[in-house]
Amino acid sequence: MRRLWWGVLPLTLIPLLFGAASLQSGNGAFGFGLWAGAGWTAIQRLVALTDAQAVPVSVNTAHRLQAVMDACESDSACCALPDPVWEVMSVRCAACRNVLDPMPRPDLGRPRTERLPMAMLRLWMADGHALGPSEQQP
Ligand SMILES: [Zn+2]
Repeated sequence: MRRLWWGVLPLTLIPLLFGAASLQSGNGAFGFGLWAGAGWTAIQRLVALTDAQAVPVSVNTAHRLQAVMDACESDSACCALPDPVWEVMSVRCAACRNVLDPMPRPDLGRPRTERLPMAMLRLWMADGHALGPSEQQP
């Protein structure tokens, strides 16, 4: 999911090139629209290079999930048979319902029940980030 999120950056070159071609010899409004949309996405991804918290699935996220799994296999587990599940608002144990990590699940890669157009619209609006409050450090 991390690669998918970052993979958008090289893909923005395509609308930028078509936008430049359209600005030079085609419809100027269409070219400007392509430039504005692709440029906004490229700038947002480039800003995320300096802020690790702006990425929906980061290395820090993987470390926190691994810490939850390690805690479940240790003697300090929440219950006898821990079953960690990454829910929409937090990582919880399915057996005892204890909150193991208050990290909301990013929208990118989450299984969903709505139909494809609505799912794509929501994913586009949230840019893969969690729909709940921002991450809190444990
Ligand atoms: Zn438990």
